[in-house]
Amino acid sequence: MDFDWHKIFFSDQEYTFFWEILFRTPIMFLAVVLVLRFTGKRGVQQLSIFEMVMIITLGSAAGDSMFYDDVGMLHALAVFALVLAVYRIIIWLITKFEWFEFLMEGKPIYIIREGKMCLDELNSKELGSDEFLGALRGQHVDQMGQVKYAVLEDTGSLSVFYYPDEEVLPGLPILPDEYESKSTIISKPGLYACSKCARTYQLEPAVDVPCEVCKNREWVAAVHRKRVS
Ligand SMILES: [Zn+2]
Repeated sequence: MDFDWHKIFFSDQEYTFFWEILFRTPIMFLAVVLVLRFTGKRGVQQLSIFEMVMIITLGSAAGDSMFYDDVGMLHALAVFALVLAVYRIIIWLITKFEWFEFLMEGKPIYIIREGKMCLDELNSKELGSDEFLGALRGQHVDQMGQVKYAVLEDTGSLSVFYYPDEEVLPGLPILPDEYESKSTIISKPGLYACSKCARTYQLEPAVDVPCEVCKNREWVAAVHRKRVS
């Protein structure tokens, strides 16, 4: 194999194209910052789907015109102006029509209501269960009996509301070591939590006991810990 090193590193550009990049890059960079400022967003921690699309589109147009000599900067800037206009129109429609908001952003859904998992929502796979447990751990929850409500917001973040200490029930432990000890074998009598829907049952030693609610057969011994944040 004989590599064409010049082509790999410089394509078919003259070395002087570096000067052009030096000129293009800061301008496009500033243009992206300005457009994002004009959207009125304060940060990018919680992006809805269409905001994400806006940023990808801007990034693509900006990036291309930084180093493709056949992409003119004014074309990229025209894309910016249009993306900004479309973004503003969508925001306006969202505030005006509720159905449009649902269409563009979805709506908040309950994952846990009154301490019980909402199975329909869980099965709809809006949120993987690993992801869900991880998000709860991020809120310093170490067992499910501490959680009264969990709502998946349209931005993808999870809002969690807790039981006061005296109302915390024994529940499914979600620290990785404990959760991974789930088993289909119940070796001693006690309170067990279903590893899928987190309902708790008093179980006697047995093998392959199906959960009454979700039919799952893996159990973890319930723990009764209060939340310490
Ligand atoms: Zn279950």
